[in-house]
This record gives sequence, structure tokens and C-alpha cells, in this order.
Amino acid sequence: MQRKATPSTWIILGLSLAVCGMAAAVFVQPSKADRTAAAGAVQRFDPPLRRAFSDGGEFEPKREPGNWDWLASHHEPGQTYERWANSNPNLPGAGRTKLYVLPIGEFAEGIAPDLEKLQEYTAAYYHPMPVEMLPAMPDAEVPARERVHLGKKQWKSTDLLRWLPKKLPADGYAMIAVTMTDLYPDEQWNFVFGQALTKDRVGVFSFARYHPAWTGGKADEGTELLVLRRATKVLTHEMGHMFGIRHCIYYECNMNGANHLAEADATPMHLCPVCLRKLHRAARFDPAERYGKLRDFYAANGMKEEEEWVTKRIAAIKAAR
Ligand SMILES: [Zn+2]
Ligand SMILES: [Zn+2]
Repeated sequence: MQRKATPSTWIILGLSLAVCGMAAAVFVQPSKADRTAAAGAVQRFDPPLRRAFSDGGEFEPKREPGNWDWLASHHEPGQTYERWANSNPNLPGAGRTKLYVLPIGEFAEGIAPDLEKLQEYTAAYYHPMPVEMLPAMPDAEVPARERVHLGKKQWKSTDLLRWLPKKLPADGYAMIAVTMTDLYPDEQWNFVFGQALTKDRVGVFSFARYHPAWTGGKADEGTELLVLRRATKVLTHEMGHMFGIRHCIYYECNMNGANHLAEADATPMHLCPVCLRKLHRAARFDPAERYGKLRDFYAANGMKEEEEWVTKRIAAIKAAR
């Protein structure tokens, strides 16, 4: 169902109904010792940092996948902190320190997520790295082939991927393009949620299917938040790949792979201790400060569960001696 288009192109969250073959993968749930070891040795850190990279019971181990879930069809060995650090990830620095989000095409009010909120959340998540939302590119200027599939307009994602690396600003560490238009990677595919060139640190993702209107459904009072949750989750997940962070198999974590929308919806917004430590090495944040920024966002947007979760984590980190 998923495949690599080229060695450096990942089709992420790309469900194509036209491609049905599914290889079985056996997922063995990592033990508590495996999960702790995956976060790496933390003894050299001061107590708050040590606590930030440890599971004090706030994290749920990765659940067994259902038949259609990501780990049922993808064999992923897991990327420990050490393995990530030894992969020589291309970290921010040398003037490339900023994260960019580029909206492509129209973002219709009531259907699209609020771009300002997307910027705010990404900035809290990747604190202290600056995050800039670029001006939206009008439909007419989009450098991609267009087709109509089942009555809906789609842009060819690979055309956008060829163009995006040239558009990454000189001070940009990574850039994610987002659109409300559906995407397709080539003629054999029905659609793709998104695609990224991790080597070039660019990607493009569509939120077209995140609103119930896509399937003719009606919005209700929870829809705006649902769309915001989906969009912020995918944006921060894909940004995570830009830092060389691969899918997480240790905990329920924002870096888990997802085969379909229901699986992505069940994934938490937060990073597990393993992925948090990788991001810390790359972005150099103060964990309690970062969680504080996320708490402000969750509180301002009625995301109660997430707000309570980060509040607990802040208290645990601050209490560490
Ligand atoms: Zn992914
Ligand atoms: Zn993780």
C-alpha cells in the first residue's frame, strides 16, 4: 500500500485505493527495558533533563497494530536515540536555522485549518527554532500538473517536490508546503496524503481529506478542532522527519507511522522520550519551557486532554532532583 518512489522520497501517510498488495509484517512490542534503552544513557544529564527523557508512567507503550495499521504492513526495526545520533543527521546550524511553512493554493474558511494557529503550534513544538508562515501561493502559480479524479482537482506531488528544494530560503533548515488541494504522486495512484524529500528537507502535504466535507459529511461543533488537530499533528510529524527522525515503534508517539486517518487520529500529539531526546539534540530547548508553550496553545484552543498531559509533565520535570 505504501512504497518508496525513489530512495530519497518517502511517501508518507499515502493510502492509494488502487494499490492493494499488502505485505505482512510482524511487530514485536518492545519491552520496558527495550524502551528505556532506546532513549539512551541519561546519567550525565541534570535531574530535570534526565526526567524529561524518562517514562514516569506518562507514556503509553506502542499498541499492537490492527490489520490495516501501519506496523501490520511495514517492518520497522525502530530507531533508538543512539542509532539516530550515529546516522549523522543533518542538524540545524551554519545559518540554516529557520522552519518555513508554505501554503499552496486557497485555504477556504470553515474547511481549512487556521494558518495562524498552525504557525503558532509549530513554533511551540519546535521551540526555540523560528517558524515562518510564508504568503500563500495563488492557485494559478502552482508549478504542478493538474488532473480531476472522481470529480475533484488534484496536483501532482512529484512536480511540487522537484520545485520545492529551489524555493527553500537560504536561512531555512526545512520547509513544508501545505495545501487544501488533493495530491497524487503518479497516474496509477488514487491519491497521496503527502510526500517528502528528507535529504533536501522539504515536503508537501494535503489537508484536503481532513474535513468531513470531503466525503459529503457535515461539520459539527467538534469539526474545527478535529481539522486543527489533524493538520498540526501531520505538520509536526513531517517536520520531525526532516531532522532524520524515523518512525517510532517504542511508544504511542507523534512519530508513529499511520496508514489511514483513523490510525493518525488515535496517535497522540506528543513525542515519546526517545523522539523528544532526538529533537532536543537538534533544537536545544528547555523541556519545561517547550511544554509551557504547548500548554498555552492547548489551553487557548480547548484541547483539554493535551493541556492536562503537558501540565503533568512540567510538574514532574520541575520536581526532579
Ligand atoms: Zn512519517
Ligand atoms: Zn517516539
